[in-house]
Amino acid sequence: MPALFVGHGSPMNAIEDNAFRRGWQAAARSLPRPDAILCISAHWETSGVRVTSSERPETIHDFFGFPDALFAVRYPAPGSPELAAEVLKLIPEEDERAAPDPERGLDHGAWSVLSAMYPEADVPVAQLSLNAGRPAAWHGALGRRLAPLRNRGILVLGSGNVVHNLAAIDFRRKDGYDWAIRFDAEIARRILGDDLDGLFRYPELGPDANVAVPTPEHYLPMLYAAAVRDPGEPVDFFNQAVVMGSISMRSFLMGS
Ligand code: ZN
Repeated sequence: MPALFVGHGSPMNAIEDNAFRRGWQAAARSLPRPDAILCISAHWETSGVRVTSSERPETIHDFFGFPDALFAVRYPAPGSPELAAEVLKLIPEEDERAAPDPERGLDHGAWSVLSAMYPEADVPVAQLSLNAGRPAAWHGALGRRLAPLRNRGILVLGSGNVVHNLAAIDFRRKDGYDWAIRFDAEIARRILGDDLDGLFRYPELGPDANVAVPTPEHYLPMLYAAAVRDPGEPVDFFNQAVVMGSISMRSFLMGS
């Protein structure tokens, strides 16, 4: 199974017909049908590792100031306690305390993208949390442990944004600031070059990194998709655009 990283951007992409959403739909059509999906979203940060284990995860509307139509969206995909158990088995207890979370639902980083990709909501979904406060290399190492899931028909889906700075957003702007375009292009070069270490060392990009990744939660999900790559596997970028100045929509399919 290929792996996927999606730049999710605005929650409105869940209900607007636009080029980004169509890019997600095209990606889904190019994939074999997954048995289940493991989503790593920017919008679930925890202390310690958690995996959703509910049979029926609820749709979480974790945003404010958007139209009622967006709050009305429900994404009733089944959960997958089996996948949660499988993921937990891949994380040795001596390395990390990881636990199932039977209460947690799906956040908009997951459902805004999945409602476009699999509108029938008939592919089971589990989410893996971001263990807050851990360095990028730690997330990459955890991501690598997930690679065996690909052989079992599981789609590993990272959902975030390579560049994400809400404070710098200019809603009238269609393109990106120079620093955003530079940072996005350099990260793309490192993804393409299978330079995981370079992806971990993004702070070395100095002032560009400080503004492109003011907080790491939207950057880190990308590392999970990059980390499950087999050596030499092809990478296909899509939705390559920086919008509203400071949001990169760059997405990629790995190994398709
Ligand atoms: Zn987000």
